[in-house]
Amino acid sequence: MLNIGCHLSTSKGFTNLGKEALSINANTFQFFTRNPRGSKAKDIDDDDVNGLLRIMDDNSFAPVLGHAPYTLNPASANPKIREFALQVLKDDLARMEYLPNNFYNLHPGSHVGQGTQKGIELIAEALNSILTADQTTMVLLETMSGKGSEIGSTFQEIKAIIDKVNLDNKIGVCLDTCHVYDAGYDIVNDLNSVLDEFDRIIGLERLSAVHLNDSKNPFASHKDRHEKIGEGTIGLKSITNVINHPKLRHLPFFLETPNELPGYAQEIQLLRDAFLILR
Ligand code: FE
Ligand code: FE
Ligand code: ZN
Repeated sequence: MLNIGCHLSTSKGFTNLGKEALSINANTFQFFTRNPRGSKAKDIDDDDVNGLLRIMDDNSFAPVLGHAPYTLNPASANPKIREFALQVLKDDLARMEYLPNNFYNLHPGSHVGQGTQKGIELIAEALNSILTADQTTMVLLETMSGKGSEIGSTFQEIKAIIDKVNLDNKIGVCLDTCHVYDAGYDIVNDLNSVLDEFDRIIGLERLSAVHLNDSKNPFASHKDRHEKIGEGTIGLKSITNVINHPKLRHLPFFLETPNELPGYAQEIQLLRDAFLILR
């Protein structure tokens, strides 16, 4: 079975996330742990969370993905901005334990002129101060498109971060199809080579989730604008190859395409129909 869901808004609570996912034939979803700009998160209501856990259990959900606010920058040159990122990340990881054994997705950060090496060191330092041996949540580093001074647009940069993390058994990777294509990994013409490279540099056992997006921009544009499935430069055929690839098909896939709920329902149906049944 294809494990697929999309990004959903948490404004109506956790139980409602599960209900919305079911209503569009999804068996997972992604949510922002708080306002994407990083403001204070709502208090967690036990009944609300338990309602979601029951739905996930009853319907064999794949792991769900909490997404950190994308404005956080643990690689900032400004110690106050780094400290803010740390506080939010720690609080988010504590809250993720209400949903045990799921994933927390993080944009690694931007070095803002300090250089890639310095950025990598700061990100690893942040991870070393937030990860705990008893957490059940896997923290996923997202592959980035390389806009501005973003770190994580090459597999080598992701690997360099992981190598500096002490509790690296808590670290995985989320591959974003739009981002890697914009970053210059040709998943359209040579998906096998891209996955071989990922395996050689990071190791495919680290790959825990896929953000499934088409791209508005050409190959290697370093832009990061998501497009609806089949309407961008990656195209439906290549997206279909991604979900069916023997090294990827078991993973949870998360749509972050420009859609409201009905559009997501259509894309999920399209991809479920395109998922090959193997025997
Ligand atoms: Fe993201
Ligand atoms: Fe993404
Ligand atoms: Zn993006």
